[in-house]
This record gives sequence, C-alpha cells and structure tokens, in this order.
Amino acid sequence: MHQGVTQAADLVITGGTVFTADAALTVAEAVAVQGGRIAWVGPAAEAGDHAGPGTRVLELEGRTVLPAFQDAHCHPAESGVDLARCVLNDAETREECLETIARYAAEHPELEWVEGAGWSIDSFEHGTPSKADLDAILPDRPAFFVNRDGHDAWANSRALELAGITAATPDPSGGRIARGAAGEPQGTLHEEAKHLVWRLFPPATPEEWEAGILRAQALYHSLGVTAWQDASIDEPVHLAAYRAVAERGELTMRVEGNLLWSRDRGEEQIDDLRDLRAAGSLGRLRVRGAKIFVDGVLENLTGALLEPYVDSDNYGISMFSAEELERAVVLLDAHGFQVHMHTIGDRAVRDALDALEAAERLNGRRDSRHHLAHLQLVHPDDLPRFAELGVVANVSPLWACHSGYVDELTIPFIGPERSARMYPFGSLARAGARLAFGSDWAVSTNDPLPQLEVSVTRIAPETRDLPPLLADEALDLPASLSAFTANAAYVNFLETDTGTVEPSKLADLVVLDRDVLDPGAGPLGDAKILLTLSEGEAVYADPALGW
Ligand SMILES: [Zn+2]
Repeated sequence: MHQGVTQAADLVITGGTVFTADAALTVAEAVAVQGGRIAWVGPAAEAGDHAGPGTRVLELEGRTVLPAFQDAHCHPAESGVDLARCVLNDAETREECLETIARYAAEHPELEWVEGAGWSIDSFEHGTPSKADLDAILPDRPAFFVNRDGHDAWANSRALELAGITAATPDPSGGRIARGAAGEPQGTLHEEAKHLVWRLFPPATPEEWEAGILRAQALYHSLGVTAWQDASIDEPVHLAAYRAVAERGELTMRVEGNLLWSRDRGEEQIDDLRDLRAAGSLGRLRVRGAKIFVDGVLENLTGALLEPYVDSDNYGISMFSAEELERAVVLLDAHGFQVHMHTIGDRAVRDALDALEAAERLNGRRDSRHHLAHLQLVHPDDLPRFAELGVVANVSPLWACHSGYVDELTIPFIGPERSARMYPFGSLARAGARLAFGSDWAVSTNDPLPQLEVSVTRIAPETRDLPPLLADEALDLPASLSAFTANAAYVNFLETDTGTVEPSKLADLVVLDRDVLDPGAGPLGDAKILLTLSEGEAVYADPALGW
C-alpha cells in the first residue's frame, strides 16, 4: 500500500473507523482521495504520508467512514414529484390524515384536483379509508390519495363519479373496488382498480418530473446515498426528465433505470423497451433493467400464495399466469435486460424463479444479475435456488419487524406456519444468496440508517421495546452494511467503480457521526450522516462539520 514516493492527496480522512465492505470486510482507519478516486486505505499512523501542503485533512475523532450507500429499489422520481403534493407519510392516524388533507386543500384553492400520497393502511379500519371522510372536507373537488406502498388508493365521491364508478361497475382485472353493503364504491381502490380514477388526473408536467428528481436527489444525498435503482419507469416523460437533468449536468446521483413491463401489452412491447433502453443512458444515467410486478401485497390479500389465505379460498393475485411470466422473462433475458421482479408471496417468488430458470435453460447463462424484490414469503424449497440461479435477493429491511402491517394485517391472514418464516433474510444468506437492500421509498423511509437497524435487530426504531420479529432472520452488521453498499453496487452493475472503500475506486464515501461498529455507540437509527462525497466532491455536508 505504501510505496515510498506518494503523490499528495486532495483529501485525507483519518483517525476513525473505515468499514471498507471489501470481500474480507476489512476495517481500516484512514483513506486518501486523489482526483475523485480512492488513492489509499490504511492505518492512521501512515495517513500523514499521503498529505501535502495542499491536502485537506478531515480528522474523524473516532467517527466512521463507509462506502456511500446505494438504494437497490426505490421510486425516487415519482416520490420526488409527490413531495410537492399533499404528503401523508407523517400522518399516523385517520385523524392526522384528514387534518393534513384539509390544511393542504385550504392552502391550495387553485387546484382543481387534489392529489397526494403516503397514507398508511394501518391508520384505517380494515385498511380501507372511506369516501365519506374525504367528502366532508372536499365535497366538490375530485380528490385522490395513493397509499404508502402504492398498491391502494383513496378517492372521494366526486372522483369516483368522474370515473363513472358505481355499484354496477365490475372489479377490473388485477384489482378490486372496496364496496359497501349495497355494492356501492366505499372509497378505497385496490391495485389495478386505482387506475380507474388515477388516469383522469392531469399528469405531472416534464418540469414537475425534473424538479421531483432533483428534490429526491438532494434528500438522498443528505442520507448518504449516491446511487439508486429506480424500480419502475413506466412513462416516457419519466425517462425524458432523467435525461434532461443529466444533460444539464445536474445528475449527481448514479441512476439505474428499470422500464416497466406492462401487463396491458403483449410481447411486442419488447421493441419499445429496447428503443427506450438505447436512448436512455447518459452521464450517470443507465437503463438496463425491466421491472415486472408479479403479485400484490399480503396486507390487502393480493400477494400470491402457494396455499390460500387463512379460512378462505383466496390465493392472492398473480398479475401474470406462470406461462405468461415465463414467456416475458425469457424474452427480456434474450434481449439482454436485467429482470427485476416485485415478488411478495411465496407463489410469486416460485413463479419468478421458475421463469428465470427457464430463461437460463433456453438462453444460456450470462452475467444478468436478475433480482427479486421484497421477498416477504419464500417457500423453504426455494431458498437455495437464489444461489443456484445467481439471482440477487433485493429486500426491504425496514419491513422485517413487528408493526401494524405485520401483526394486524398479515399474521392473522397467513397463519402461524407462514408467519414463522416472514422476511427470511438470514435463511437466504445461509442458503448462499447475495442480499442487496432497497428502501422502496416512498413506500417507507429512504434513510438507510433505520433500515440497517431493523436488519440487525428485527425491531423498529419507533418501538424499541417490542420483541424482534424472528431474531434468527436478522443479519449481522457487516452483512447488513454490505447489502446497502457492495451488494447494492453489484446489482446496480456499479461494483467496478463503487460500493467498497478500496484503492482505485471512485471516492463515493460517507462520514457518520459515531463509530457505528462500536456496540456501545447506541442504535444505528440514531446515527447521523455528516458528509456525503460523490467522486470526492461533497454533495451533502452537515453544517456542524464546517466543510
Ligand atoms: Zn417498489
């Protein structure tokens, strides 16, 4: 590492804990940055050799350096757009939701359509908010709010009326209209049914998309993130906005884009996806993935299961038959796409793995890095198939704890046997799977630190007095940190340049306010990001750092 003659670095960070996330999980004390890349990593005693008169030296005083985080599954562009609308993510009860909406509606009398997102299904009885509650606030203007996980929506009477939804309206394919006793629409629209209303709303303008991307980027940088995988780009304007931001040189985030495989179209859509992919890559923007929604979610009984939900003959919703899914995956794989599938229930996971196995059999094996996102239930027989097929387990660690979603809306409906193997991250790791972490923001927070806390403890930071959810399924801290850095870089095809703190890699680094490897440093979710570097440049610095 130290070779006698050393060029002075631009920046030396020293005197703390440097978790490198390299293959040996090496811990060092100092790092030198030169020309946007990591020049040296080693002990603090040698750091001075790399400093010259022009070198900026940051003394860590026992704090931590990590590779900058990468989010392997999120929805940053639309979530950034939503941040300018009525945001319900901080409202934890029905009353708080209604107060927030009333305030927003009063502040925006100019809006013909009142739109927002972020309500939580555990704030409402049966997870189904009513149109009557909204009508009391918004009797005249159409109003529509997507929930936190993006699967359900809440509409008022005016919006339902404009969409022509009545007691006589059948449930659309892949969706369900919640209904009252007489069959009249109750106000909640599950899965595909939400599009009956949503499609009427004026779409976000290109300027709103671009502003949304920049808003999300700034927020992510403040949380230590320098790369994200946008899990579903389903409109040309979404991709065009990324390109516009990249063209102006304003994209400081490395972006992996996934084009949505639409269930409304057939195999001919492959030509459009190929065209979009060919036009998509620019600067830090890359498009190489295709996203498929294989099922829904367990909380509204649309996650696809091998055995039915408790006391019912409901197996959930498969968005595609196993045969259709296989044909789509084989086709996408043959055209060189990285296939990224939303899979919650154990049948969705099995169908997805079967389809990927067929793709390998028919097309041969290549460096495809296909991945399955979320993995709430995996049948034990399927655990080893991730390693066998080289499929990355792209999981959302924040969800793996006791919460209203798990305790009230899931466990009673899937029963004890399946509840005993929920979010099987430890089992996947023991079966040799590579795990990467994705927040699914704005479904849940995009702050990696509380997500890491849950990965290690299986306990939510808001309820630290609750018992862990299946403690055997926790990952240790080095494995958890690697899932948000090195392994996320792998699934983002960025590991040659990022994801670990090693010489010659880009200096995408974060500084935390404490030694997070010290068990005495307190819960991870309480730690703070002080500095985020992208290629050696600060894209976020806490004012307290005096950077
Ligand atoms: Zn998602």
